[in-house]
Amino acid sequence: MLDVLRRIIQEVNGARSLEAALATMVRRIRKAMRTDVCSIYLFDAERERLVLMDTLGLHSEAVGQVSMGLGEGLVGLVGQREEPLNLEDAPSHPYFRYFAETGEERFSSFLGVPIIHQRRMLGVLVVQQQAMRRFDEGDEAFLITMAAQLAGVLAHAMATGTLTRPAQADGQAMFSGVAASPGMASGELVVLMPPADLNSVPDLIPTDIEAEITRLNEAIANVRKEIGVAAARLVKRISAQEVALFDAYQQMLGDAALGQEVEKRIREGQWAPGALADVVKRHVQYLERVDDNYLRERAADIRDLGRRVLAHLQEDSPRTPDTFPEKTILIGDELSAASLGEVPRDKLVGLVSIRGSSTSHVAILARAMGIPTVLGMVDLPLPRLNGARAILDGHRGRLFVRPDAEREHHYETLIAEEKALSEVLEHEQDRPSETSDGYYMPLMVNTGLAVEAVASLKSRVGGVGLYRTEVPFMMNERFPSEQEQTRLYHEQLESFAPLPVVMRTLDIGGDKDLPYFPIDEANPFLGWRGIRVTLDHPEVLMVQLRAMLRASVGLDNLCILLPMISSIEEVDTALKLIDRAQRELAEEGVKLARPQVGVMIEVPGTLYQLDALAARVDFFSVGSNDLTQYLLAVDRNNPRVASLYDACHPAVLGALSHLAIESRRLQVPASVCGELAGDPAGALLLMGMGFEALSMNAPSLSRVRAAIRRVSLADARTLLDETLALPTTAAVRAHLRQRMGEWKLAHLLPPDD
Ligand code: PEP
Ligand code: MG
Repeated sequence: MLDVLRRIIQEVNGARSLEAALATMVRRIRKAMRTDVCSIYLFDAERERLVLMDTLGLHSEAVGQVSMGLGEGLVGLVGQREEPLNLEDAPSHPYFRYFAETGEERFSSFLGVPIIHQRRMLGVLVVQQQAMRRFDEGDEAFLITMAAQLAGVLAHAMATGTLTRPAQADGQAMFSGVAASPGMASGELVVLMPPADLNSVPDLIPTDIEAEITRLNEAIANVRKEIGVAAARLVKRISAQEVALFDAYQQMLGDAALGQEVEKRIREGQWAPGALADVVKRHVQYLERVDDNYLRERAADIRDLGRRVLAHLQEDSPRTPDTFPEKTILIGDELSAASLGEVPRDKLVGLVSIRGSSTSHVAILARAMGIPTVLGMVDLPLPRLNGARAILDGHRGRLFVRPDAEREHHYETLIAEEKALSEVLEHEQDRPSETSDGYYMPLMVNTGLAVEAVASLKSRVGGVGLYRTEVPFMMNERFPSEQEQTRLYHEQLESFAPLPVVMRTLDIGGDKDLPYFPIDEANPFLGWRGIRVTLDHPEVLMVQLRAMLRASVGLDNLCILLPMISSIEEVDTALKLIDRAQRELAEEGVKLARPQVGVMIEVPGTLYQLDALAARVDFFSVGSNDLTQYLLAVDRNNPRVASLYDACHPAVLGALSHLAIESRRLQVPASVCGELAGDPAGALLLMGMGFEALSMNAPSLSRVRAAIRRVSLADARTLLDETLALPTTAAVRAHLRQRMGEWKLAHLLPPDD
């Protein structure tokens, strides 16, 4: 059964349009369950009706014509209750309603199950049988499993259906993801293709068909040549059977095979990479379905050949900075920092990625650069978006493709308002972050990138609250040497001296991977991360510590921060290594005072070890991003649970407040460097709690400063007391919004719907 299920999903997944997906579903399910009828109804949310979208067994003229409200008829009942309904004698059920157009009266048994995606009822899947048939438990379980699996595919197809139907190629579509960097932008989508990925080739119409065919033939000829060379090189070392495989490759690439089919598609109006990808994918899909191991393995061969040809095709069409549109919204499967560098900064207005999270590397980079970004857009039909006009809403996590005039106008107004607001706030940037009753709340900045205009920041902040050293490590192709690191850290320390710069030791693992030091784990956020990695690799940590210390000579503004601390032993070992680094440098004649050392409070366990930690370190820095994910058991990277991830959850606020009180008792300065500090309302709460500094991305400074300057410490404390009494995140957010509104500060918050 599992096999059947898998194949159906695979086939539906490969469908090129919503209609094709639905047709495949009804055909394959009817066959698998051996029933007379299989139908699918989709929920039209605007009309609040379930519409018959495809059927095998009922009258086909009824498709698109028959619809029912929720609670109307048996299908409506399934949709309303969101539960399966299994009836042997359907016409005798009180909810049975006869729809003449369908010819339904002939059928006695009925089994209907709802299709639900992320709590949303998308439609109803129904099988019916003429003879009285009690669909058994197995049938019911199969259909439920089928519906659950198809829900994701269907949600995707529904979201993208309008785009894949050529007749409606101009239709507006909206996609949702995780808001990763605030701001709004309007521009043109540029799909960044990972090299030679057959699934990410955009659909383009060629301007010169003959030229496309020529470059296809050249690419194929190149691959044939490569294969010939490889075969010649290996001929002495491999068996005759394996040599034959190379011949088979040559044949597949021969004029009469792959090439001809691709050429035909180009002549029908597709560009070479798109035509190639489609032909290869179709063959692969076909071969993967056959019950023959040998043929199934050939699918991998064809895919490999396709990739090779595609790589050659892509080689000759790289984008140059001149060919990027004036307002580029870069979109890709998984954007990397390197890929951002490809677009000139003045042309880059937004970022969208299928994968990634609000704390992934690209998100950190985007926030630092002030580029609106939405990640985790799992339903994006990537290949069909190249060149489309779009609006990106980085506050709400939305992308509107081919927006209509009304939406475009609405966003133009919002974008203009946002621009005006930042200009107004900019004027205030050099004023002190002081409340209306004279309390000074130090603001600091999070850094890690060379692109940041640090010089202009120095006069506006109290120092660097978090320098993420892993960022320069990620940009490298190997661990940077001690000299390289010393230079880098010295630049950073010098730019802000005499203000303190908190440098965090390498915090890799979780979602932060180094290309040259991959960590592959089932649960990376609960695994080898941060201090756990560096203590296991003292050679890496020692180089970093020595570089930090050496870089601070003559400046004395270095503070060292240890990430992901979960036990006292880790602190003791790290402190010993810091002492050792200092001793070694002293032996080399480099004399310096011991820097301040702090720990990140981001693993909930540390909240219960504050006394022991306080006896060892000079300061605490709260990583509210990780503290939230670990306290709530919500992966900060997973778009499926993104709605559960909020640092304003009452449990997180309770923990933070407890920490602030305890730090005061222990006389250890505590600051916050997670994203909550950069949220104007969050910053007011943290100030009310008594944190001694707030550290945030540079673009957040102006809003937080504006909020602090317009409230009194007394009001912030009252706000905190009121908030801590609320039971849910939603209640907290609503209350914050209300108070901010009363204080005329609502414009500082992300726009509400
Ligand atoms: C945090 O966890 O809040 C933090 C500041 O560190 P990072 O986001 O780099 O994990
Ligand atoms: Mg962290």
